[in-house]
Amino acid sequence: MRTILMIHCKNYLAVEYNSKFYLAVIIAFTMVMNCTNAIAGIIKTNAKGTIEVGVARIDITPETPIRLAGFGVRSKLETEEVLMRLNAKALAFGSDAQGPSILITVDLVGISSHITNQVTEWLAKNAGIERSRVVICASHTHSGPEIGTLLNILQYRSPIAFSDSLLPVSHMNHIAHYVDQLPGKLEQVAIAALQNRKPALVSWGIGEAGFAKNRRMANGPVDHAMPLLRVTDIEGNIRAILVNYACHAVVLDYNSNKIHGDWVGEAQQLIEQKHPGAIALVAIGCGADANPSLEGIEKMAPLEQVNAIGSIIATEAERLLSTPLQPVTAYPVGRFKQIDLPFAHIPTVDELIEQTNNKTVKGYYARLALNTIARGGALPLSVAAYPVQTWTFGKQLVMIFLGGEAISDYSIRLKNELGEKIWINAYSNDVPCYVPSRRALHEPRYGYEDESSMYYYNKPSRFADDVEDRIITAVHELLPHYKPVKRSYK
Ligand SMILES: [Zn+2]
Repeated sequence: MRTILMIHCKNYLAVEYNSKFYLAVIIAFTMVMNCTNAIAGIIKTNAKGTIEVGVARIDITPETPIRLAGFGVRSKLETEEVLMRLNAKALAFGSDAQGPSILITVDLVGISSHITNQVTEWLAKNAGIERSRVVICASHTHSGPEIGTLLNILQYRSPIAFSDSLLPVSHMNHIAHYVDQLPGKLEQVAIAALQNRKPALVSWGIGEAGFAKNRRMANGPVDHAMPLLRVTDIEGNIRAILVNYACHAVVLDYNSNKIHGDWVGEAQQLIEQKHPGAIALVAIGCGADANPSLEGIEKMAPLEQVNAIGSIIATEAERLLSTPLQPVTAYPVGRFKQIDLPFAHIPTVDELIEQTNNKTVKGYYARLALNTIARGGALPLSVAAYPVQTWTFGKQLVMIFLGGEAISDYSIRLKNELGEKIWINAYSNDVPCYVPSRRALHEPRYGYEDESSMYYYNKPSRFADDVEDRIITAVHELLPHYKPVKRSYK
């Protein structure tokens, strides 16, 4: 039974009075407070140089034993051991009059459009926030729980082949319950950040960290930039630090079957230890072809390795915080679009039957594809609705959010074409698969990112050659004021 509770306040909102009653009450209270403080809110946002910013965190550590994501070769089963708790954290920018924008980071291997859409639709309906003003960025930790985005949750894997057996029901139960409750937690942290908004001084700068190494080519492309955004209260106390770096979170390998945020979680913890009361958020750039690398690290124990890498980020953050940062006095304006990324080839039934002889994930995928066809379904022709999003903070900062595991070429090209004030977050809104560039699609050493990873992601083939141009074009369409200055690729 559902009752609709109308809140008559500005152009707000219909709050559904259902199983989310508790949250609805909080929202209603917030909106009443916002209404009564509307004039005060305008005055607050006009305080010189300030933006209203809210910060919040919520624990998203699995509450049951669960299989971990990342590493197709992971052979161990469920884990109960938690070495580091996992969090979702949110920053809410802008007053109600300006239209608030919410950035959420999650300590997870990825995020599916299914989960993101639930959160954005709920926030649109219950808090009046437009789709373009909400983004979820995943850390890509390989020591987080399965969230249903990769094929290795579907079956046992023997050393020589994929089996046809489904996971035990208890394993699927734990994964399914985790995935099912995640949107509610992300909605809660978004609302908490909205409630927490108060005038803040925001500034940003770009540092550098050198541990990301191209994992396919010696001296291959990599993005070592480390942008940082600082949020302080009007007295100058730090409330939040958002950092971005482009590298896989794979310091802990597949032998470690314990929950941990990897170098991303470690960096967040170290920054928060330096700044008690503040939250640290780390989003990942275009680092899908980069792994962490540090001289002598192999001699360390696994947790020492994570600490060594996380410390590089935390140390560079401290250095940046001691330098003059550029003020950000404009609240973000979001733009969002979804585009089609066609695959290079859709296999025929005969080709799939031949492909089943392959003992790798490619053969396993062929059996799944044949099953789809036999049940009257069709293979997808493209990654439909690939998300591309931009947030412009006036002319002071432009954040670009790309879905999927985008490789370093995207960052290099976009910065080349759009200039110095660009900050690029990948693994955002949806992680449907890797996103190689035109160069990588013609580089045999990128065979995993180009093709074999696609089968783990339940996709029929590599992308068509124009995948890069489609994405770059979409970014430019969302940023009409930023004219391309240089083309890196023909
Ligand atoms: Zn990856």
